[in-house]
Amino acid sequence: MNPHLCPDLEVLFTELEAGEGPALDHAAECAACAAVLEEHRLMEQDLYRLADPLPPPTLVASVMARVSAEPVPRRREVWSGLAILLTSMLGGLGYLVMSDQALGRLGTGLASVLVQGRPFVEGVLSGAHALWSTAGLTVACSLAFLLLTSLYGLKRLVGTGPTPSEA
Ligand SMILES: [Zn+2]
Repeated sequence: MNPHLCPDLEVLFTELEAGEGPALDHAAECAACAAVLEEHRLMEQDLYRLADPLPPPTLVASVMARVSAEPVPRRREVWSGLAILLTSMLGGLGYLVMSDQALGRLGTGLASVLVQGRPFVEGVLSGAHALWSTAGLTVACSLAFLLLTSLYGLKRLVGTGPTPSEA
């Protein structure tokens, strides 16, 4: 490709997704194309931020898979488990606060994760076990807190009742 001839934007973005290509090589040395790519990157970043403040539902499972795939020192394992537990709890709580109707969907999603995601369950169990041996009291408090918030959420769900679309 002629280095002085800018490639078609469609080609450039296709190669951007693929991660390599002559158009991408050109953009590395061309100020105009680099500016286009930077603008595209910023716009994509804004879109992701707008789309959903929550992490994707597969995040915990994928993190768990990575954690269990890598042999890590026990201490780090505990912190990873704690971070994941806290993230899940905060994410779930935030979701509940944002929408009562979400509770039903959350339950269904959680159930499907538990049924399909055996590595996830095993990861949580091993994480919980590691936590229990080092920070039993903290875990007990967290679990009690989680139980209370779940009960509160259920009570609110019963109070509002299912919407016609959910019924
Ligand atoms: Zn160019």
